[in-house]
Amino acid sequence: MPKLEISKVHDAYRQGGECPLCLLEASAEKALLISFQHSRAMEPDVRVRTNREGFCAEHVRRLYAGKNKLGLGLAIHTRLQHVLPEVAAALGEAEKAAGGRDAKQAAVRAAARLSGIGESCYVCGLLRQDRERWIFTILYLWSKDPEFPPVFRASRGFCIPHFAAMVNEAARSMRGDRLRSWLAEAGTLMRESLEALEKDLHAFTQLHQAGNRTLGTEAERTALGRTLQKLAGGEYLAG
Ligand SMILES: [Zn+2]
Ligand SMILES: [Zn+2]
Repeated sequence: MPKLEISKVHDAYRQGGECPLCLLEASAEKALLISFQHSRAMEPDVRVRTNREGFCAEHVRRLYAGKNKLGLGLAIHTRLQHVLPEVAAALGEAEKAAGGRDAKQAAVRAAARLSGIGESCYVCGLLRQDRERWIFTILYLWSKDPEFPPVFRASRGFCIPHFAAMVNEAARSMRGDRLRSWLAEAGTLMRESLEALEKDLHAFTQLHQAGNRTLGTEAERTALGRTLQKLAGGEYLAG
């Protein structure tokens, strides 16, 4: 059973918004990047993982924009030493097969290996583990804590990517009746929240028409950022 993260999940629900998992993920991501920019980059077990996994484009961009270029430079130097033989091996296999019957498949396999090198990410990997714990905790609280379902029902559900992850885990871990009633509650939240966003976003577009001098409501002013988050996840500035 994954470790429960009860107080973090409660905090996220208290904050409200379109998706508690987006809030949890944004704050864990920020803390991870900050700790990497301080001492974490030099911890031996972390270096073993960053050498093996590297960073995706988004996380390396954020690390590069932050402090501690030396720590990042050292970590990326040993990552590069790890990547060099992997690239050579991928290319070597494709080159060996060139001109033969297996040439195309070997080139496609090399491309897949090269893509894997560019996409794997130490930070994304840790966040994936965290996400599994938060999702597990939300479903656990919904099943076991009588005070949680009303909190859940008062929320706006999840962003669509996080909702998909919740549905997957619910399908994996819940039995028939329980799964049916969780899906019914969560599905209602999702439908209501998408319908409310549709209305708010329509009002937002009216507010931004030339000549409109009204201020609109808070919900209308923040509708675009909230809808972008609902559709794709992540954090957007309101408005
Ligand atoms: Zn989300
Ligand atoms: Zn990443």
